[in-house]
Amino acid sequence: MEQEYTIDNSYLSPEAQKRKKDLEENPASRTNHMEYMDGMEVLDSDIKDKVRAAMQSYDYNAYTDADVRTALANAKQGHCGIEDFKALLSPAALPHLEEMAALAQKERLAHFGDCVYIFTPLYIANYCENYCVYCGFNCYNHIHRKKLTEAEMEAEMKVIADSGIEEILMLTGESRAVSDVKYIGEACKLARKYFRNIGLEIYPVNTDEYHYLHECGADYITVFQETYNPDKYETLHLMGHKRVWPYRFDAQERALRGGMRGVGFSALLGLDDYHTDALATALHVYYLQRKYPHAEMSISCPRLRPIINNDKINPKDVHENVLCQILCAYRLFLPFAAITVSSREEARFRDGIIRIAATKISAGVSTGIGDHKEKYEAHEVTKIDSVQKSVNNSAQTDDGLACANNGSPADAARACVNDGSQADAAHACVNDGSQVDAADAGDEQFEIADNRSFEEIYDAIRAQGMQPVLNDYLYTEEYHN
Ligand code: SF4
Repeated sequence: MEQEYTIDNSYLSPEAQKRKKDLEENPASRTNHMEYMDGMEVLDSDIKDKVRAAMQSYDYNAYTDADVRTALANAKQGHCGIEDFKALLSPAALPHLEEMAALAQKERLAHFGDCVYIFTPLYIANYCENYCVYCGFNCYNHIHRKKLTEAEMEAEMKVIADSGIEEILMLTGESRAVSDVKYIGEACKLARKYFRNIGLEIYPVNTDEYHYLHECGADYITVFQETYNPDKYETLHLMGHKRVWPYRFDAQERALRGGMRGVGFSALLGLDDYHTDALATALHVYYLQRKYPHAEMSISCPRLRPIINNDKINPKDVHENVLCQILCAYRLFLPFAAITVSSREEARFRDGIIRIAATKISAGVSTGIGDHKEKYEAHEVTKIDSVQKSVNNSAQTDDGLACANNGSPADAARACVNDGSQADAAHACVNDGSQVDAADAGDEQFEIADNRSFEEIYDAIRAQGMQPVLNDYLYTEEYHN
């Protein structure tokens, strides 16, 4: 299915409309996406080349049922190599999904036990200088823009921390001009007062800037490559620093060199061929794990979602059973990597996949700016003490254990895939009047499918006989100074 990315142009000035049309229709009007911009650090690293070579030679339709059986046998012995992984991502593996899920669950249990890590994202700004055609925050979309002041940030953080959450992922949109590194650093310092673990999902920066942000309290960074296919990437990221494919690719390595403890990776599934994007994501992790064995690596698995002013965008052909296949293959190939399942997915899918392959889940999610107080209060925020009391209630725990004891991996796999359909379906550089400031909360980046509060997700994890974990790491100032 072809995507319809075009958004309403009527709010743009005639100059901006012309520029936008040019970018969309005339590739010659766009900059070279493989050329670094001024100020972008160039790393001497061969990982990009290795990943691209593997993508180019990956003929997933050539894998047979026998290849998949061999891969499963190797995975059973704990030796899932690159060739095995390629077979498990291929169409030939889909009929083996239940066996893959059973093996993945075993692997998950061996390395993560029954722990499910919980965090919440906090969007502190939604200004963006880029034109990514599939994203609600893109610089040409007519939305309410907002950047939280320190007082507003602190109010949001307090509401989130009061709910019991200890890990936060702060996001900004991608505007250096509006949300500069200093602003993000101050946000990290503030967040340290309220949270034990702080992640960032911001525009890629240079090694020294990652070092600075780490000193301010950030522990890990996540950068989505969106698609690892540079040719496709070029057609989707039409303007701004994000257009530079290799600079984005090396962001995790720069972050690790800057001292970050962990890094996160992802392709946005549905933008391009998911077989090659899933392969590239996992190989990106695989090669970096070998180069930086001390680092924590995690993978996210978002699919396309509708955005504000365009509800036609949907996952291309990444059905839930395919998403389940990809996640099981990730788990078998990268047994030590954390896997995060996004609130873009429905509660039913998320509850199933955390038993099989995923290890981390967001809760109490809002992708708007400055609206946690309103949303959390609507859910009648309860502190973790009372959550703990409620889950310690014996009747509830018994129910949870019974449910977990009755559920086989095959049941969970079926729960994940039972419909098999697509049922769920900057101003500095733009300066064209497309960015609408508003005194109230900023608009959301994309639609979310799982709206459950922190308490509801915490309870749902316990009800499956699993252990919600709020944090297992302490950032110690002494260590870093
Ligand atoms: S995906 Fe990120 S960089 Fe692209 S428009 Fe959205 S917020 Fe901006």
